[in-house]
Amino acid sequence: MQTIDKFNFAGKRAFVRVDFNVPLDENSQITDDTRIRAALPTLKKILADGGSIIIASHMGRPKKNPDTKYSLKAILPHVSKVLGVDVKFAPDCAKAAEMAAALKPGEALMLENLRFYEEEEGKPRAEFATDDEKAEAKKVTKENQKKFTTTLASYADCYVNDAFGTAHRAHASTALIAKYFDESNKMFGYLMEKEVIAVQKIMTDTARPFTAIMGGSKVSSKIEIIENLLTKVDNLIIAGGMTYTFTKALGGKIGISICEDDKLDLALELLEKAKANNVKIVLAVDAKIADSFSNDAKTAFVPVGEIPDGWEGLDIGPETEKIFADVIKASKTILWNGPTGVFEFDNFTHGSRSVGEAIVEATRNGAFSLVGGGDSVACVNKFGIADQVSYVSTGGGALLEAIEGRVLPGIEAIRGF
Ligand code: AMP
Repeated sequence: MQTIDKFNFAGKRAFVRVDFNVPLDENSQITDDTRIRAALPTLKKILADGGSIIIASHMGRPKKNPDTKYSLKAILPHVSKVLGVDVKFAPDCAKAAEMAAALKPGEALMLENLRFYEEEEGKPRAEFATDDEKAEAKKVTKENQKKFTTTLASYADCYVNDAFGTAHRAHASTALIAKYFDESNKMFGYLMEKEVIAVQKIMTDTARPFTAIMGGSKVSSKIEIIENLLTKVDNLIIAGGMTYTFTKALGGKIGISICEDDKLDLALELLEKAKANNVKIVLAVDAKIADSFSNDAKTAFVPVGEIPDGWEGLDIGPETEKIFADVIKASKTILWNGPTGVFEFDNFTHGSRSVGEAIVEATRNGAFSLVGGGDSVACVNKFGIADQVSYVSTGGGALLEAIEGRVLPGIEAIRGF
């Protein structure tokens, strides 16, 4: 497989798919440029080699072409600044052949938002009166998607995918385009490479014991991940709102804690499966409860299955913190997805912070720790420990699908599996 380090970009034009879907404020100013910075090592390596770059990204969910609210032109000055070159702009991503051909070594061109074209995702945007009309439109869009993909591929000599955030999508620029380049001319960017290696360390080259901490609000959104993890981990710590579905299923009293009553049987099934697979499920034993869903609520610590009527569990209690920390500190591989409580309220962050600190200690002692999936990333940032875990993933949905055991089209398109 080709790698970005081995590849010499001198005199080559590279089509680089990045994820510059950054948040903007009402004045179209970037509020967090993490995603742009994450792609810089790749972009800078290409320019330093004497190559030129066609930067391609999506932004938001545009409904038409063009949809100025989602124009990538808004971020052009910032990209130029951090990249250190005056990046040119192609206002129509499907009509940029001349601008791409005119690129000289060391130059960069950014394409307008790929998703202005429905061909990028390959799904018709319009509403249809009948199923037949819809099916026909789908066929046409798929055909057009081929043309669109060929056009994008024609701009460049080589293809670099550095957009892990969209690796779970089989879109024109994230996956389909790869087949227009031979093995030696397509590769992951540095960011993508790091993400792929991190996932591999968790899912295949696993040092044991392997502990996953699954938090967050609902069992229903995590079932597939939990099921897949039950074939991989030694310990599964269940935390956050999911705790109460399990507690109720086991006959505990949970007051008005968040609970999915239609998932009680499923919770018991998951516990059975864990037993059959020799996986130790670690559940909370105590909870920090509140008399309302608010940071200023009255609070108390109680055993997790003895929550009084009218009260709800919003975080784990001190005994649970200790149990979780002991399991985490004895682990060699750790995956953390989802907080142990409502960490957005300062009075209910303690449990998540203690999990974060245990992970940091385990990492210091040689464990590999991966933190990923929206809210746990927010947690490690809030606690200032992002640089003390082994890896913080940039991919929300992509990371979760990888943990569910799915093949990600963006990875498969380059690596072959
Ligand atoms: P998810 O997106 O499924 O990872 O869920 C994250 C959300 O779960 C966060 O916004 C937390 O506030 C929420 N959460 C965690 N624990 C609880 C709890 N005990 N009760 C209600 N919400 C919770």
